[in-house]
Amino acid sequence: MQCTGCGATVPDGATACGACGRPVVGAGAAAAGAGDSLRQVARSTVSATKSVTHEAVKQGKAVTHEAVKQGKVVLADTKVAFKELGSLTKKAVHEVGQDLETAGRDLQRAVKKDK
Ligand SMILES: [Zn+2]
Repeated sequence: MQCTGCGATVPDGATACGACGRPVVGAGAAAAGAGDSLRQVARSTVSATKSVTHEAVKQGKAVTHEAVKQGKVVLADTKVAFKELGSLTKKAVHEVGQDLETAGRDLQRAVKKDK
């Protein structure tokens, strides 16, 4: 190519004119083009990273949601179990009380008979 300042022939790939020292426009444009490409790569990398992160966050939320849901179900089961245990205990206490009453009456009767 040719230098835009002095018209001297500049070898391809040179960044400055060997005759006058001016920066070669072609090289600058190429560098700028490379910069643009790099920026585009960086932009698409950032956008890909963002979408991957977004997806991971979304999945993480879904997993957490599912775990919370299952935890609630287990908690509900535990509540039901406690309620059943409570009513079973009440029933058992009631039955034992009745047995004791019956035993007491039998004992009283036996004592009366002895008199
Ligand atoms: Zn020149």
